[in-house]
Amino acid sequence: MTAGLQHVEVAPLQPDRFRAVLDAEQQRRLDQTIEEGHALLDGRVVWNVNSTARGGGVAEMLQSLIAYARGAGVDARWVVIEGDDDFFRVTKRIHNNLHGAAGDGGPLGPEERAIYEACAGRNADALAGLVRPGDVVLLHDPQTAGMAASLRVAGAHVVWRAHVGLDMPNDTARRAWDFLRPYADAAEAYVFSRQAFVWDHLDLNRLAIIPPSIDPFAAKNEDLSADAVDALLVAAGMMSGTPGPATFTRRDGSPGRVDRQAQLIGGPPLPAGARIVTQVSRWDRLKDPLGVIDGFVSHVAAHADAYLVLAGPETAAVTDDPEGADALAACERRVAELPADVAGRIRLALLPMADTAENAAIVNAIQRRAEVVVQKSLAEGFGLTVSEAMWKGRPVVAARVGGIQDQIEDGVTGVLIDPRDLAAYGAAVLGLLRDPKRAHEIGVRAQEHVRENFLGPRHLGQYVDLFARVIAAGQ
Ligand code: UDP
Repeated sequence: MTAGLQHVEVAPLQPDRFRAVLDAEQQRRLDQTIEEGHALLDGRVVWNVNSTARGGGVAEMLQSLIAYARGAGVDARWVVIEGDDDFFRVTKRIHNNLHGAAGDGGPLGPEERAIYEACAGRNADALAGLVRPGDVVLLHDPQTAGMAASLRVAGAHVVWRAHVGLDMPNDTARRAWDFLRPYADAAEAYVFSRQAFVWDHLDLNRLAIIPPSIDPFAAKNEDLSADAVDALLVAAGMMSGTPGPATFTRRDGSPGRVDRQAQLIGGPPLPAGARIVTQVSRWDRLKDPLGVIDGFVSHVAAHADAYLVLAGPETAAVTDDPEGADALAACERRVAELPADVAGRIRLALLPMADTAENAAIVNAIQRRAEVVVQKSLAEGFGLTVSEAMWKGRPVVAARVGGIQDQIEDGVTGVLIDPRDLAAYGAAVLGLLRDPKRAHEIGVRAQEHVRENFLGPRHLGQYVDLFARVIAAGQ
């Protein structure tokens, strides 16, 4: 039996559009990346392999990076592996373990190895039938690591990338590393998002550190006028006001419109002029939504007129994630227990998920409309929401955990707090609400920081450098 690989079509986008947001030196580097990419990858296919075409930060990044690579003339492609329930049960366990969590509590023993290798083997055979010697294969996340060895045998250059990690690894995480290490070892290089996430006992000569990036032209991040922001929020039922053209740009350049409304829990749409503090996240305990509410109630609500908006995917999209539904229900209970005047200043917003671009446009509008953006996670791999808000010139108050620390320099490009310190979180939010000048200055530096570090061209440049290294070493 061979696995049915799914080929994800990605329409090319011109990397030239980045010229509008890059400084001269960055444009020079982008030109160099494109030139070197051509010379290096001409006649080769760059295969990206992961386990989902939709949902999650990895799929979002692949969409945009592959589009720009194709626009630059590189034959970059995306295939999604096929797995059965047993395989995804094992890989979900590995994923949880890599985060230091027990997950379903099951083992990672010989039986799990057999399940994992059988499925990885089928997918590797299917892909090996397509790759040609000299092609580059970029395997993403634990689900695909087991394909490395066979693809090497087929003559491809193979890189494996881990998108998750943990600041303080525990035995559970180490168990997952031990499970995956032999597969990762078969790759010619491995990529981690930050140094602290690198496993023990890896060959450091094969290591590359490449942080994630955002796409400034995607519906999630595209520039919007203040009127467009308000129109999007009014159309989504989140704010009262005069309806206007609630449009956004889809990936192919065609216009989209917000037609579906968010479900608002806790009160009516926000008043037109409301000042907003927001956290946009999946409903997940590790994003600490209860802490965001408690800190706002105890340390902000009595001293400022702002509203708190906790925004995340709508419940229907959460039903297959029991932990998500629980986290949302806990927030609802917490708000319901509050005195009416304080509760009235908080909204839980369930954003429509039927159309990813529409959802993204609403996220864009909330982040842009917010006076302060919060990301008070208890743990975080990178935290794309942080760069998204920083790119929009927003001051971000965020937890000093995981990849957030690579994005925010405390007091300069945002404010970092200990996520367990609600008073510090409240004081940071209040301080920014009360000092718009400082908030503005932080926002300006935040956007510069993202421009310098977390946009697609930097990411593509690092991939080209890494592929050059791998191809040269394999000669
Ligand atoms: N997000 C979204 N709609 C939502 C909630 C979140 O598009 O209703 C996006 C958010 O903008 C970000 C991504 O989901 O791009 C979350 O990535 P992050 O790295 O912050 O956290 P993760 O969910 O991967 O833990």
